[in-house]
Amino acid sequence: MAITLARRGEQGQASVELDQIRPETAHTERGPLDRSQFERRMKPVVMIVEDEEALLTLLQYNLDKEGYKVVAASDGEEAALLIREVTPDLVLLDWMLPGLSGIELCRRLRGRPETRNMPIIMITARGEEADRIRGLDTGADDYVTKPFSMTELLARIRAVMRRIRPALTEDLVTFGDIVIDRAAHRVRRGEREVHLGPTEYRLLDHLIQHPGRVFSREQLLDAVWGSDVYVEARTVDVHVGRLRKALNDKGEKDPIRTVRSAGYSLDEQFHN
Ligand code: CA
Repeated sequence: MAITLARRGEQGQASVELDQIRPETAHTERGPLDRSQFERRMKPVVMIVEDEEALLTLLQYNLDKEGYKVVAASDGEEAALLIREVTPDLVLLDWMLPGLSGIELCRRLRGRPETRNMPIIMITARGEEADRIRGLDTGADDYVTKPFSMTELLARIRAVMRRIRPALTEDLVTFGDIVIDRAAHRVRRGEREVHLGPTEYRLLDHLIQHPGRVFSREQLLDAVWGSDVYVEARTVDVHVGRLRKALNDKGEKDPIRTVRSAGYSLDEQFHN
């Protein structure tokens, strides 16, 4: 009965119910995500690379309070490994680190296609103009000199996020003819309203933040379902299938690319 009602429903709410009662969804075992879980998972991830423990703790505290998910590393090598694992949305990178220096790590990140556009803010004790220029030459998006005010740093992080990944901070996100209205929790394709279940909505929202980036099923599980939930990788395929069906309902071009044995991405060519 509930299914029939939900299918006949016209508003987003109805598809939410449908999603929650389908037996094959992972959520039935653990219950649907509540709003706070959902928000925690959609937080932008900031990685701090800093070897001064007191400063690291202070930064962690403030960024966490500001609503970011924080990942910390205390040297360059550790950071390089972690970045491959968690693909942060922004890296706060100390210049002087033991071993692999911040500047060298920045250069490496800029050299790899997967991290070429990753926002980086360098932190350094040096304030000389020559170093500042070198830092920006290496590819950092911004630069702060110790000692800095936390308010200023947070403002710069927000500014870099807005500039480089507007999709992370804006309420209205557009990709081709697809529009996500985060405030209203609605999706439109052209003139048409697209009804998505909560999981499909989060999937689309995640993919749209990183057009062109290929996500493995495991990475999508982590980002959309959360690492503390046990779900089979196959479940990702089921939900991508539903997302496609809803998005391309009227025979429109498919924005999602299946990358054989790698995963899924939003097709960058889709814009054209
Ligand atoms: Ca240092």
